[in-house]
Amino acid sequence: MKIGKQEEGWGIKTKLELLPKSSAIECMLKRISASHKQRDYLENQLHRASAGVRGEGKMVKKFREFSYDGNYLPVWDLNMVLGEWAVQIDGLLLTDRCAIVMDSKNVSGEIHYDAVTEEYYKKAVPGGEILHLDNPVFQLKKHIDFIKMLFRIHNINLPVTGLIVFTANSCVFRAKPPGALICKTYQMNEYLYQILRTSPQVAVSKPIHEIGKLIAANQVPFKKSPLSEYYRIEMKDLKTGVYCNKCSGFHMERVKKSWICSGCGNKDAGADRLAVQEYFALVSDELTNKKFREFTGIVNSDAARRVLSKYDLEITGERKMRIYRIKNR
Ligand SMILES: [Zn+2]
Repeated sequence: MKIGKQEEGWGIKTKLELLPKSSAIECMLKRISASHKQRDYLENQLHRASAGVRGEGKMVKKFREFSYDGNYLPVWDLNMVLGEWAVQIDGLLLTDRCAIVMDSKNVSGEIHYDAVTEEYYKKAVPGGEILHLDNPVFQLKKHIDFIKMLFRIHNINLPVTGLIVFTANSCVFRAKPPGALICKTYQMNEYLYQILRTSPQVAVSKPIHEIGKLIAANQVPFKKSPLSEYYRIEMKDLKTGVYCNKCSGFHMERVKKSWICSGCGNKDAGADRLAVQEYFALVSDELTNKKFREFTGIVNSDAARRVLSKYDLEITGERKMRIYRIKNR
């Protein structure tokens, strides 16, 4: 008796959703090397996605009280890519004197900076636990460089500067890292005025609203592309294989109808579920038998087909040309 029929669509199929952004980024981090050039950026993105913190919300609110006689245009939550360089910038204030990159930091507790060791950290209040942080000045400088480069490419003559805004209510500065203007939300507009006061009027080569349009046109929507495309990560940089949730390696092998880890012996019949989800979140919207074998290391195409037929996916094309997609993406 052939049991293939049942597995190919007559049985109840398992529903499969696209991975949430934070899980997808976590998976991506596990599949790239420790020294990958996008690792820091992805870790930062993971932090943002999982914390669900939108500190820029507080900046936007405070900005409603901003008033300036000259021309200006604020742009919030920028996701941009230049070549292989992707950035996420909380705010950019375009004015007729300069462009101001605004990075928000949602860090509570006491903020310390040790000028001798160049260590930047926070101390929890109460408790006193110390947590080392990435110096926000470096990130701001990178963002400023990005906008400068964008302007250069489009022949926009406008100086670029920046401001870091700490948005947590319970944040106390003991010392600020040098090299950039840093303030709290309630001081934000005062700092912006101060920047504008000290910036000389320049001949802007493009009207502010045109620069705004250009920036809007360069936004990369998150949902549209799988992560490798979105973060410009090449397929060859991704480890292939099926993830073992016990030893965190990618050495799960298809044995009969289950998966066994050749590294630690862990047996997990459901290990392929994450592999299929990962493929859609990281690699492409479209999956074929061949691509699935390349991604998971499954050798046999019948075995790959049987795995894929377990899931409730949208299927187009016949047999070998079959394309699988996640439903209601
Ligand atoms: Zn294992």
